Amino acid sequence: MTGTVKIAIDGPSGSGKSTLARSLSKILGYVYVDTGAIYRTVGLYAKRNGISPDDEKSLKERFPDINISLKWENGCQRILLNGEDVSEDIRTPEASMYASAVSALPEVRKFLLSMQRDIAARSNVIMDGRDIGTVILPDAQVKIFMHAEAKIRAERRYKELVGKGKDVTYKEVYDDMCRRDKNDSTREQAPCIPAKDAVIFDNSLLSETETVERALKIIEEKIK
Ligand code: C5P
Repeated sequence: MTGTVKIAIDGPSGSGKSTLARSLSKILGYVYVDTGAIYRTVGLYAKRNGISPDDEKSLKERFPDINISLKWENGCQRILLNGEDVSEDIRTPEASMYASAVSALPEVRKFLLSMQRDIAARSNVIMDGRDIGTVILPDAQVKIFMHAEAKIRAERRYKELVGKGKDVTYKEVYDDMCRRDKNDSTREQAPCIPAKDAVIFDNSLLSETETVERALKIIEEKIK
């Protein structure tokens, strides 16, 4: 096989994409790219600079001032906004809503497209997001679309946030997730839907280990 290997993992929030992608990157030795972090960083920039997240014109004018870079420490992705590590700051519920809003803007998606493709052209990648299989890497050798029931996804996300010491209630997490699901799957630009050639993977009833095992089988079948 020539070129790099690209594995696209898409799906709604809390579907277990990032947990799976992180495990697979360790096992396969591929670079893991969490594209949600990139949209979150643009959202954080808008929030910090008092730009409304639906004000496409103002945000576009500021693109030359938005310098986003990724680096990897012990296999973990860190994200920098104009040289500042914002990997933690982008994880608040408010940053999530900003991310969801800015990611619906066509100019923002255009602005971030080449950055994502460039990374995939340089190394073997496992990239997770919403439109990796449909828009960013339509030529990916493996496309997995993760799915799990909303209640299960909210529970996972709630436990993850509480584990990180965040002060949130289950209801807040569930409501926030449903709102974002609706925004992300109904927007005109790159909605969160499976690519025609994606394998739909419902992991509602699977443990993390079972999820990884099943995904490795899918990958093995696609990359012989
Ligand atoms: O994956 P995560 O929940 O961190 O993503 C934050 C937001 O960024 C999502 O709600 C979605 O609106 C947006 N996003 C996107 N396309 C991607 C990744 C994330 O629109 N490839």
